[in-house]
Amino acid sequence: MTIDHQRQATYAAEDDAFEGTDLTDRARLADLADLAARVVAEPWWPGPAVVVRAARADSSTSSARCGIDAHDDVEIRLAPCGCTVATLVHELAHALVGPACGHDAFFRRAALDVLAVATNLDAPSRRGERHVAGLRDAFAAHGLTVAEREWPDPAGFGSRPGAGGAPIAL
Ligand SMILES: [Zn+2]
Repeated sequence: MTIDHQRQATYAAEDDAFEGTDLTDRARLADLADLAARVVAEPWWPGPAVVVRAARADSSTSSARCGIDAHDDVEIRLAPCGCTVATLVHELAHALVGPACGHDAFFRRAALDVLAVATNLDAPSRRGERHVAGLRDAFAAHGLTVAEREWPDPAGFGSRPGAGGAPIAL
């Protein structure tokens, strides 16, 4: 396995982007499992099936356990302190790109796309580009690049009827 050089900088950028937003509010596991199911049910999702479970109650680490095979299901385990939309988005991005990518530029592309979909599912609370722009800016501020995506573009998502008209940024 290659050394995951950009892990800490990627964490720091995510912290900067999400701090002070409700994406870091503690959520119920069942609601996050439901959100994950809806994100991966969207037609653009290129990754494997995902299940969301609670990590052990004394765990401080959330994780995405990917199978050996690209088509194996991914099990996301959310620690009590990781029961947030922000953490779920991070772990879903791992599920999308697979463990070999670590926290590289493809991981960051996946995180932006998952975030765009996850924050625009429900009509009353659609965020448009707000969170995506914040995370993209934070990656840039930390000197982190974002790769071109190698999966379907989720951008059509935001232009659905009733989505408020603001397309998701590419
Ligand atoms: Zn990670």
